[in-house]
Amino acid sequence: MINQEDQFKKVISHAKEYGYVFPSSEIYEGLSAVYDYGQNGVELKNNIRAYWWKAMVQMHDNIVGIDAAIFMHPTTWKASGHVDAFNDPLIDNKDSKKRYRADVLIEDYCAKIESKIDKEVAKAAKRFGDAFNKEEFVTTNPRVVGYYQKIDEILKRMGKSLGANDLADVKALIEELQIADPLSGSRNWTDVKQFNLMFGTKLGASADSAMDLYLRPETAQGIFVNFLNVQKTGRMKIPFGIAQTGKAFRNEIVARQFIFRMREFEQMEMQFFIKPGTQKEWFKHWKDTRLKWHLSLGMGDENYRFHDHEKLAHYADAATDIEFKFPFGFKELEGIHSRTDFDLKQHEEFSGKKLQYFDHEENESYVPYVLETSIGLDRMFLAVLSNALVEEELENNTTRTVLKLPAVLAPTKAAILPLVKKDGLPEIAKKIVEDLKWDFNVVYDEKDAVGRRYRRQDANGTPFCITVDHDTLDDQTVTIRYRDTMEQKRVKIDELSQLIKAEVDEKVWLEKCSV
Ligand code: ATP
Repeated sequence: MINQEDQFKKVISHAKEYGYVFPSSEIYEGLSAVYDYGQNGVELKNNIRAYWWKAMVQMHDNIVGIDAAIFMHPTTWKASGHVDAFNDPLIDNKDSKKRYRADVLIEDYCAKIESKIDKEVAKAAKRFGDAFNKEEFVTTNPRVVGYYQKIDEILKRMGKSLGANDLADVKALIEELQIADPLSGSRNWTDVKQFNLMFGTKLGASADSAMDLYLRPETAQGIFVNFLNVQKTGRMKIPFGIAQTGKAFRNEIVARQFIFRMREFEQMEMQFFIKPGTQKEWFKHWKDTRLKWHLSLGMGDENYRFHDHEKLAHYADAATDIEFKFPFGFKELEGIHSRTDFDLKQHEEFSGKKLQYFDHEENESYVPYVLETSIGLDRMFLAVLSNALVEEELENNTTRTVLKLPAVLAPTKAAILPLVKKDGLPEIAKKIVEDLKWDFNVVYDEKDAVGRRYRRQDANGTPFCITVDHDTLDDQTVTIRYRDTMEQKRVKIDELSQLIKAEVDEKVWLEKCSV
């Protein structure tokens, strides 16, 4: 068994070696927490985006998309609360000179208590065998109950002091818990300060007339400011949604987890406008719907869990995260927030324009409530990639590295391989490529022995290898090899297109969302 840290390192090096993710401007030593997607990465990213877009926009007749600009009028960010409140509490260690998010240090401390609980549970399960009742154990065992109480007290106190902007108490909590710098072990901390995460820039050439702008820290505001434009021109009736994918920028204090936390990243967001008072049912609806979307990809139901928020953002009346089991543990992958009428009301106030909906049935105007689903495309990419990478022991005592990507998302759907580079086999293989490439991303590969080519495609995540051999000349059949099972079948060239479609078609996968 390899440990989590090694597995994560493997994911990062595999991503680079196979053209998925490169450090940005690497020839200049890279740029911290900024990454570029390579030739395979861009395909996987596009496929994830398309899978989301199809599920959210194309499959919902009451959801439409937009593509708003990254730059927005600076008042947008005053209205949204980002200028005043888009802060993270920062703390420095005086000895190691390392900077941390104070809330993350405290949350990590709680995660350590949680792992103690897991150990107690595992021990008890072993001791009691079949008679073990986990539910009963965690609610009655004094040690475990004590651990849960401690976590609860810590998180409540942190939530309260952050909510009241009592940063001295956040520091006091870190000191009381004797939290040490994870790198140096030192407990020599500075005071906690607030740090605004927005990147500023300037619009305009002359110094005095230039306007201070921000690079958007979320795509949501581009949707809110266009609410009426879309509602009126699209004749949309509540409930309806507006979806958008695009870049967002945050000057993250700590960004050491590859593409999990980047300074430039992409979001896929949908804001669903609803009648005030219906937010509870829509919150539940979108929680279920989004979880089904994730589960449709078959990456293991046990790898997802909801984490309901104790401490709510200033705009929310309910919030949950869909967490995924990344190589470094369960972490937020997507957020689902009931945002009330906060955003539209704020924009009404700051712009002086009405942002209301006239409900013909009720014969009244109101500011709609909003239900948001917000997922990081790069985080989803990391979830897919890290879940897919496996090192498999084979029967002949060798191992193979295989990227078991969901076929619908795989960058390349099939590799077409002539067994040898002669006897007319390359010509047939190239003809198959010409035919298939209208519908699928396929590659031609004739270099090296066929076994090595299979391994290469396994590591690339290609679900099918199609081999043209001498029998093909006589009977127009080829061998199709399945990446995950390594099973091989003889099929007619004419059947290839249908066969691949049946495995990679978005419809086949997305239909699982509706069960
Ligand atoms: P976190 O608590 O991890 O900082 P958040 O709660 O601030 O995330 P949201 O503002 O709700 O995140 O953003 C929605 C989604 O955008 C997140 O669920 C995540 O998938 C993604 N996201 C947010 N920040 C980053 C980042 N720095 N890099 C990559 N993805 C991000």
